[in-house]
Amino acid sequence: MRILANQDFLNRRAVVRVDFNVPTDDKFNVTDSTRIVAAKETIDHILKQGGSCVLISHLGRPEGKDPKLSLMNIVNKVEDILGVSVSFFPDCVGAEAEKATAELDPGSVMLMENLRFYKEETAGDLAFAEGLSKLGDCYVNDAFGSAHRAHASTTIMAQFFNEDKFFGKLLEKEVKAIEKVMELGEKPVLAILGGAKVSSKITIIENMLDKIDQLIIGGGMVYTFAKAQGGKVGQSICEEDYCDYALELLEKAKAKGVEVYLPTDVIIADDFSNDANQKVCKVGEIPDDWEGLDAGPETLKKYEDVVMRSKTILWNGPLGVFEFENFSKGTITLGEHIAKSTSVGAFSLVGGGDSVAAVKQFGFEDKMSYISTGGGAMLESLEGKTLPGISALLE
Ligand code: AMP
Repeated sequence: MRILANQDFLNRRAVVRVDFNVPTDDKFNVTDSTRIVAAKETIDHILKQGGSCVLISHLGRPEGKDPKLSLMNIVNKVEDILGVSVSFFPDCVGAEAEKATAELDPGSVMLMENLRFYKEETAGDLAFAEGLSKLGDCYVNDAFGSAHRAHASTTIMAQFFNEDKFFGKLLEKEVKAIEKVMELGEKPVLAILGGAKVSSKITIIENMLDKIDQLIIGGGMVYTFAKAQGGKVGQSICEEDYCDYALELLEKAKAKGVEVYLPTDVIIADDFSNDANQKVCKVGEIPDDWEGLDAGPETLKKYEDVVMRSKTILWNGPLGVFEFENFSKGTITLGEHIAKSTSVGAFSLVGGGDSVAAVKQFGFEDKMSYISTGGGAMLESLEGKTLPGISALLE
């Protein structure tokens, strides 16, 4: 892996693919700057060594040039966070852009206009990628959130740099965290897969079975398993088409020596709302008009034991409808257990979608070993796919 620590950036001009696809309000103020903060370490590293940075990114999904999605709107925020002055260039390819970037002094930063103003970006156009490659003399990819896309700036342009293409610090951390679970995980390795549906997690579950010792299945997925085992699930979310698959999966796990933990009790509700009446119920005995919305107390106690004896923990997907305060206890309690296990030496990775949102919302951000910044990219990694943006740097 060509990482930044092994490179010398003195007098070099790095084209850095960052992920500045940040949310903004209607006055174009950045409402969550996590992604800009996440790129700071890479940019600081290059500047400190006497290099300069040409930052390229997409913002939103523009159809052609759209002033509302201009990266000029966020340049002040980028300056604030980086603590250096950042110039903006109103295009991202072409002779003028090449001239402006060629004149950059060591230690300076230029932010280029939104890559997706050109449809060639998402099309992975070779000529466009070559144009981007002319903005610097080396390429650093730090956009993990886009690494699963074979776009011009995330993948295709890497081929124009021979050896001069590097993993940014964030990309390096993401890849190493995934590796730490999927390849180098200290045993016992535990995967906790929650969320709404079995159908959207099939490839992840299949891939994980070869890497883990224990599997906790939670969230809405539980009821497809419960139904498959002959239980009554009432109005709970349940994918009847996947019942056979659920049983097959339990067989596969058994054959591979993976211990599977399904809930024994759940919190049921008489309506899909925060204010619904609720009670504890055995998982396969849910009355007709009720539905399961969270993990029950006996289940959480059992999960605590499993989490505490694990040395490597992957968490993807909430244990219940955590968006409703009254049904968030399972997800919060699980977060507490993972935090506790992490504090006594386990490696914990939280990744992919809603579990990341939950961890942030409930204040566990600093208590996990690593929280992934990439939704889709993380999910594809867990499915065992090699991300095109990462392979392109390894070639
Ligand atoms: P996913 O994107 O597949 O990880 O699913 C996350 C969503 O699953 C969240 O919005 C949760 O509210 C939802 N979820 C978790 N448990 C349940 C449940 N028992 N019934 C319905 N939805 C659930």
